[in-house]
Formats: sequence, structure tokens, C-alpha cells
Amino acid sequence: MFIEVSNLKKSYASGAMTNEVLKGIGMKLGKGEIGVILGPSGSGKSTLMNIIGGVDRGDSGEVMVGGVEINHLNDDQLTDYRREDIGFVFQFYNLVPNLTVGENIEVVSNISKAPLNVDEVLAAVEMTDKKRRFPRELSGGEQQRVAIARAIVKNPQLLLCDEPTGALDYQTSRSILQLLERVNREYGTTILMITHNEAIAAMANRVFKLRSGEIAEAAVNQVIIPAERIEW
Ligand code: ADP
Ligand code: MG
Repeated sequence: MFIEVSNLKKSYASGAMTNEVLKGIGMKLGKGEIGVILGPSGSGKSTLMNIIGGVDRGDSGEVMVGGVEINHLNDDQLTDYRREDIGFVFQFYNLVPNLTVGENIEVVSNISKAPLNVDEVLAAVEMTDKKRRFPRELSGGEQQRVAIARAIVKNPQLLLCDEPTGALDYQTSRSILQLLERVNREYGTTILMITHNEAIAAMANRVFKLRSGEIAEAAVNQVIIPAERIEW
């Protein structure tokens, strides 16, 4: 398995209390698969994804990605991992406002070891004609296409998408999801995506339903596995 998380725990201090956000998460995702994390607000989805992406650290448990236990990396190693192996796509695109579309992608391409061609990824997201535009001149869906191009230009092993269609209307969301499926097919990129939309789960090889920091239910190729029968 490409991702193997076991017994992952994470707490945040809140005043005199501790808020246990992840209470022993286990999940697996194979290379080249699409995984979806579902769950209500505050259930720990982003925390889980941020730990897998090397943005945050778990308190205990194991997080293996591509054969490396990332919880045991030092800070420099974790930064390298995050820069080289992981692509991120966020709900609000997070493009650099004073750079053009092409420049937003080039910046990432320049710090990557194995970048794809900037024009190729722009073509892949059907934004070639917007290369010299600024983010403010684009619609939300177009900005998300650019954010996806920026995330894939470094040819990441893993693409992490935190509510990538959360700010988009139904039709635009569909086209963004189709684009992510195409990236998965054409580049073989493993994708892990957080969403509130249960319909999106239909496109996933594996689905993980979080509730209050625990996996309440999983599904592998649409076959539902209740929590008590999950063996990872
Ligand atoms: P989700 O993405 O499912 O909405 P999050 O993972 O963002 O949930 O948050 C889960 C819980 O952890 C929430 O109660 C949130 O307030 C808390 N939390 C998340 N990040 C932090 C942080 N950096 N410091 C303190 N509490 C946090
Ligand atoms: Mg979140």
C-alpha cells in the first residue's frame, strides 16, 4: 500500500483541556488510487490530511507514505518530503495574486526535482489561453484549474485535495472532479481528497468516513466495511 496510517493520534491543547482530534486513525490507500475522506465539520479531516502531507505532525502512531515513516522524519526531511512528493489543492485556490497564471505554476516548477512542463500542465487543465492572466481575472473554477496545474507540475507522488470543490457551483464542481480523475488516469497520481459531497465518493477506490476523530465506516471499491470489521 502506498499510504498506511495506523493508530494515529493527535490532540490540541485548548486552555486547560486537551482536544483529542484524531483518536487512533487507521487507513490505507494503494498507489494510483483515489481515496476520499468524508465527515462533518470538525471531525478531523484536515488534520489527518495535513499530517499525511507533512504540514503537521501526529502525536503517536504510524504514517507510512511510499515506504517512509514520515512521523519520524526531522524537520528538514519533512520539508523536503512536502516540497517534492506532495501536491496540495485547497478550497480557496491559494494562488499568488500578483503573479500571472504561468508564473504561479513556474514558481513551483522551479523548486521541484522532477517537474513536468509548465505548458503541458496548463494544456492538461485547459487553461493555455489564460497563461498571462492574473488570478483576479479568472472565475473560481478557472482558478482551481490553475491550482491543480500548479500542484501537478512537480509530478507529485501524492495529490492532496482539501474540499477542492467546496467553493464552486454544481457544474463547475463536476468539471473539476472530472479533471482530477483525468490527472489520476494520465499521470498515475495517487489522490486523496476531502469532501462533504457523498456523491463524489462514487469515483473513489477507497472511502473513509470520519466521525469525531475516528473512522466510522470505510468502503473499498464501493463495498462498505463497518467500523468493527475494518482490519487496518
Ligand atoms: P475538519 O477538517 O474535519 O473540519 P479539522 O481537522 O480542521 O476538522 O479540525 C478538527 C478539530 O481540531 C476541530 O475541533 C478544530 O478546532 C481543531 N483544530 C484543528 N487545527 C487546530 C489547531 N492548529 N489548533 C487547535 N485546534 C485545532
Ligand atoms: Mg477541514
